[in-house]
Amino acid sequence: MTNAVFHPLSLSVWPRFSEFPRCFTSSSSSASLSIPNRTPLRYAVLGAGFAGIFVAWHLLKCPKELRLSVDVYDEIGIGGGASGVSGGLLHPYSPKGKLLWHGAECWRECLELLNVAETAASYPPADKGDSNESFGNFMVRRRGILRPATNAKTLDLMSDNARNCLASCVVETVDKDGAQNLVPNLCLPLKCAFYLPGAMNVNPQRYLQALFLACQNSAKASLGMKKITLVKKSIDDVLELEGE
Ligand SMILES: Cc1cc2nc3c(=O)[nH]c(=O)nc-3n(C[C@H](O)[C@H](O)[C@H](O)COP(=O)(O)OP(=O)(O)OC[C@H]3O[C@@H](n4cnc5c(N)ncnc54)[C@H](O)[C@@H]3O)c2cc1C
Repeated sequence: MTNAVFHPLSLSVWPRFSEFPRCFTSSSSSASLSIPNRTPLRYAVLGAGFAGIFVAWHLLKCPKELRLSVDVYDEIGIGGGASGVSGGLLHPYSPKGKLLWHGAECWRECLELLNVAETAASYPPADKGDSNESFGNFMVRRRGILRPATNAKTLDLMSDNARNCLASCVVETVDKDGAQNLVPNLCLPLKCAFYLPGAMNVNPQRYLQALFLACQNSAKASLGMKKITLVKKSIDDVLELEGE
């Protein structure tokens, strides 16, 4: 089982990085927002995986007075890379149950984004009719994740880590009967397993499509102030994304 905090920033590129703080520092003053903004700020995001769509979503959430145009470039399309084929296991721990760096914040953010994506998917897309057709039957399975201990060393380590788990995503130590009640016939060499009742399994393609739909909905709701476009193109050099 892999850990599952989605990486928000890794592959995305902002050629006009100097503009970014104007949108996002919490101390943005009204003076900075009153800068003439007749032509939209343009952002290029490279990659339409977890990182890229996350960045696009947050860019679109900048103050409503700002005109903003976001182009998401991907040579394959949404979820064309690792994100699209990932197992979608979602919790804030390493494979040995250690809380990840900034795990609590990332976990909170993931839950919020899932909510955004599920809300978008539950409404019929404007041009496409029935959303069930687009998103199929599951985006998130909330059934928890069970992890059997496989050797004595990791059992000790995981037991220690479990004691320091987050209240918002607890790790319970369960015995053989408890584990086999959850997953009948599960093989438990050490008669012990770790259960994360709050952990989830995300269908990555559906989640990404829905989050991109949420981006489009957000742009539509901005009455022309925000725009998002998916550009299917391979980028060999980030300078290709340089503004005019
Ligand atoms: C088999 C597998 C299972 C996994 N399971 C899990 C899991 O259960 N839980 C978990 O948290 N993590 C899992 N991961 C890890 C997780 O999928 C990655 O950490 C995450 O998807 C990285 O997201 P990303 O947006 O940074 O990259 P990507 O999803 O790879 O996105 C990069 C995008 O950029 C595009 N791109 C790349 N180069 C160019 C270019 N030159 N021009 C245009 N476009 C380009 C690609 O087409 C791609 O769509 C798994 C990974 C794999 C491979």
